[in-house]
Amino acid sequence: MTDPTRSTERSTDPDCLFCKIVAGQIPATVVHEDEATVAFRDLEPQAPTHVLVIPRHHVRTAAALAAERPEDAAALLAAVARVAEQEGIAESGYRTVFNTGADAQQSVFHAHLHVLGGRAMTWPPG
Ligand code: AMP
Repeated sequence: MTDPTRSTERSTDPDCLFCKIVAGQIPATVVHEDEATVAFRDLEPQAPTHVLVIPRHHVRTAAALAAERPEDAAALLAAVARVAEQEGIAESGYRTVFNTGADAQQSVFHAHLHVLGGRAMTWPPG
């Protein structure tokens, strides 16, 4: 049953690039979407497959997503699995990355999970 104390309205930030992609105001190559998430190709791909999976709801970081919208965090992981299958990298393997904050060089403050695959990755990451 829905918790009546929680707003089901989606929060958006009019200045947020990824909110604009969710709203269709900025074009993106969408590869998967569902009620809670949108997945689209990164503009500057770092691997043959580089997809960003984002919650429709605006939150700044993965930590905020987990705290405020745990159901969306779960939906994000489910969407990653779907994208990996669709992109043909589920078997060969892929890397998922949340960049959080300055040291990780997060540049867009709308939580997003990078899905990188189609080539062998190195470790540690740069
Ligand atoms: P991060 O550095 O983790 O915040 O990742 C932000 C990502 O968004 C970068 O990999 C960018 O290449 C990507 N990006 C920025 N603008 C767009 C856009 N309009 N469409 C798709 N990807 C974008």
